[in-house]
Formats: sequence, structure tokens, C-alpha cells
Amino acid sequence: MGERALRGVSAAPGVAFGRAVVLDRSAALDAKVIAHSDRPAELERARDSLRLVATELEQIASGLRDAGRHEEADIIETSIMMVGDPGLDAAVEGLVMQSGRTAATALHEATEESAQQLAQLADPVLAERADDVRSLGRRAAARASGVRAGVVSGILIAGTLGPADVAEIAMNAKGVALAGGGVTAHAAIVARSLGVPMVVGIGAGVLDVEDGEEVVLDGERGVLFRQPEPARVAAARAEAERRRLARQHAVASRLEPAQTKDGHRLRVLANAASVAEVVEALEQGAEGVGLLRTELLFLDSQAWPAQAQQATFLGLILAPLTGRVATIRLLDFGGDKTPPFLRGATSRGIELLLEAPEALKAQLAAIVGAGAEVKLRILIPMVTSPAQVRAVRQALSAILAGRPSPEVGAMIETPEAARDASEIAKVSDFLSIGTNDLTQLVLGLDREHSKSAPVTDARVMRLIDKTVRAAHAAGIVVDVCGESASDAVAMPILVGLGVDELSVAAARVGEVRQWIRGLDFAASRADSERWLLDQPADAAGKRL
Ligand code: PEP
Ligand code: MG
Repeated sequence: MGERALRGVSAAPGVAFGRAVVLDRSAALDAKVIAHSDRPAELERARDSLRLVATELEQIASGLRDAGRHEEADIIETSIMMVGDPGLDAAVEGLVMQSGRTAATALHEATEESAQQLAQLADPVLAERADDVRSLGRRAAARASGVRAGVVSGILIAGTLGPADVAEIAMNAKGVALAGGGVTAHAAIVARSLGVPMVVGIGAGVLDVEDGEEVVLDGERGVLFRQPEPARVAAARAEAERRRLARQHAVASRLEPAQTKDGHRLRVLANAASVAEVVEALEQGAEGVGLLRTELLFLDSQAWPAQAQQATFLGLILAPLTGRVATIRLLDFGGDKTPPFLRGATSRGIELLLEAPEALKAQLAAIVGAGAEVKLRILIPMVTSPAQVRAVRQALSAILAGRPSPEVGAMIETPEAARDASEIAKVSDFLSIGTNDLTQLVLGLDREHSKSAPVTDARVMRLIDKTVRAAHAAGIVVDVCGESASDAVAMPILVGLGVDELSVAAARVGEVRQWIRGLDFAASRADSERWLLDQPADAAGKRL
């Protein structure tokens, strides 16, 4: 049989060749019945997986205790107790021994059932444990399928994956192909951030790929090739090697300053939502985190995330950042990041959070508690007025009760905020320009479906210019954390406009630092000024 193309949608660029590791054959597995004679061994495999997960969690918990993070360790230990729950064990035993389910399917089904029971409880704290149980099930099922944490070295194939799964399991994977999922799904954001090629929406047929089968994943065109032709394999290998060398170069240059040829220093930070991204960013020389998208951790939540739950996640993500800048953005729910409990809500970002003062308080308390060892900055999403910044400061000061305050910054990502940047700058310690939303909102595009984001449109750049001037007039720094900060065309213009910090996907940190070393700041300044002057007042979409 010749080469066969399974088409999906590109979710993260890059081309990879490798052996398929089929993580979740749910459709196929449901149909598969284990022979009676094999069931005891299958049950033992399921139990071994649960024991392995318990050991992994114990290691995480003891690491947290060693770091003095007792509250977070307590929470992880609750998860360990769930793994050892006799009810779970009995459910798994029934599914394997009586129904002949495979270990992975039994673990999935048993944990899903417990999760659904928990989700129905009236107590929101208990209901939140549903996500933890699902995550345990995924983790144990992965172990039962032979996938060890961080050691997937082939092309990972699954039905769907959550962002934590991508961050952990796919950390060393060559690529990810999913039957479901979407380009804007948070798993895709994490894959892009880690530089892992990813194709989503291929359909259930992808789960028929055999474990160990050689495939080529083309993350540029959104295709998975079975029985790939030799020329395709050779091209994929060459592309993977090019990316490997680029990363090696980035890591080798991580101590070189992010400084232009004429000595102008910039700070390169990373956008992150997982430990894996933070670690990768630091390896590539990031000075810290410029945007921690906290909402991505809670997109499946049934209620506003509790303080202790947030503290656990933050504790893990901030651990590698001791002594460095960690910019934690307040929950930016709404739009394409709406969890089940907020369905139908029309507000977004800080507006939504200010409508739920207890949730704001819980998050601020979690951030202040978890951020003791980092240079903490709190970032407010979707700001539209200075009053919102003042409201956050007020809530924060109640929590701090006289202790020194972390810096508080506003995201400038709405046209209203950009126009009012001077007033917002006066009440902020720093500004961060979110060019993803700003571009879409200024140009009236749909973020989820539009294929391009022409940040170099003069209408957007003028607002960025205005924001930079407003920040500097107020004596505060200004950062760009949208994808334009790592766009080869936009980035030099941003530097020329005087942006102080660029916050980019972890996998892009090294490259952006290298670009900065190739720039001449005086020339970039002159180019950006001339470029803005050259644009007609209503110029649309013109590129350099
Ligand atoms: C942005 O809008 O540019 C931004 C960084 O925020 P997010 O992509 O998380 O909406
Ligand atoms: Mg945004």
C-alpha cells in the first residue's frame, strides 16, 4: 500500500518523522474485550499504573514539602488518597474482570464515573475535585498504555489531550496528532509554546494507526502521513534536524545578553501556562515569565477556582522561577476561554472577575501566597478603564494588610485601553500590550476563525506607539506579550517604538534573543518613526 494522508488542521508548526505512540484508542478499545484468561494480568496492569501514579504524586508532594509549600503538598496528598480509594479499585476491577475492559479503558471509565458523581455535588470545593479525578484517570491510563511521564519519544496520537497532558507527556514527543481538538484549544497553545508540531481534528480514523508504525506529521499543512514515501521521510528528518540545531544554538547562547548591536538592552520573558514551558523558556535564556495565563489551567472548571487549588498550580509553576520575574495574569475568562460555569456570560477578563469579588480575592490571595520567592507582578487582563486597576489594587491591599505590594500592571489589549493609556499608566506599575486581542478588536476580526492577524496594520501600530509613549511618560516599563513579539516583521518595529520587554512563547525565546542581537536600535527607532509617518491615516494591512 502506498502513502496515505490523514488530513486535519495545523495547530502547531513543524514537521516530524517517528514511530506512532497511540495513547488513547478509546473507540477501538471500547470494542476490544480482553480474553478471560488475560483479565487477571490486565487488572494487575491497571493497579500497577495507579501505584505508579501514586508514587509520582508522592514525589511531587515531598518536593513541595521540602520547599516549605505545605498547603500545596496537602492538596497533592488528597489526590494520592483518591488514587488509593477502594471504590475506584473496585470499579476498575469490575470493568476489567467482568466486562473485559483493557486497563487503560477501565481506568478512564472508572475515573470518569467518579468525576461525574463529584461534579454533581452542591459543594463547589468538592465538585472541583472532579477535574483532579479526571486528570488522575488520564495519567494512570497513559501509564497503562506504556507511556511514562516525559518519555514519549515518537509521534503521540490520541483522541483529545488537555494542556497539562501536552506539557507533561508530550514534553519529549516529536509531534502530536489528535482525532479531535481545535486550533485555539489550550492544548494547541501549549504545543506551539513548546515547539511541538501538532495536527488536530483528524477524526477517529487516526486512532487506527498501529502502535510503533512509522509516520510523518506535517504540522505546517495539517496532515499525518501513513507509510510515508522515502523523500517525505528524508525531508521531515532534515526539518527536525534544523529545529534541533536551532534549539541547541538557543540554549548555547542563553547567557548572552538580549542587547542590540549598539548596546540597547531589552528584557525577553516567556508566556507560559505550565511547568514544562517555564523550564524550556529558562533553558533558552528567558529572564522570567511575562505572561502566565492562569485561566488555561481552569478551563474545565465547574466553579471559580478555589484559592488552595490555584495555590497548588502556582506553586509548581513558580518553583523554577525563584528570584526571577513572574508576571501572573488574573483569570482572563470569556470569549474562547469560557469554562462551563460561565457559559452565557458576555463580559470578559477583569470585568468578569470584578463581578465575582470573592473569586478575585481568592486568586489574589493564592498569588500573593505562592509568589513569595519570585519578583512578583500581577497583570490585569482586558482592562478598559483606570477604575478597574484601582479596584484590583484595593482588593489586593486588603489581602496584603500592610505588607509591601507586588507590582500591578494593566494589559492594553482593547482599543478603549489604548486610547486611555495615559490615564491607565498613571495608576499602573507597568503596562503589557496584548497584540492578539488588540489587533482583532481594532480591525474587527474574529479571533477564533481569522487566518491572519495583521499587527503591522497602521491603526494597530499607532495605538501601540501611543501606549509606549504613555508608559514612558509615566516612568513605567511597557511589555508586548502578544504573538507579534516573536513575529519577524513586527518585532523590529516594536523595538523601534521603544517597547522595553518582549514576552514570547517558550520555544521562541532563543530566536527572539538572537534577533535582538542582530538589530541596531538607533536604526530601528528611525525606521519605526519613518514607517509610522509613511502610513496614510487610514492605512489597512500594509506590511513592511
Ligand atoms: C493578547 O491578547 O495579545 C494576549 C497576550 O492575551 P491572550 O492571547 O491570552 O488573550
Ligand atoms: Mg488577550
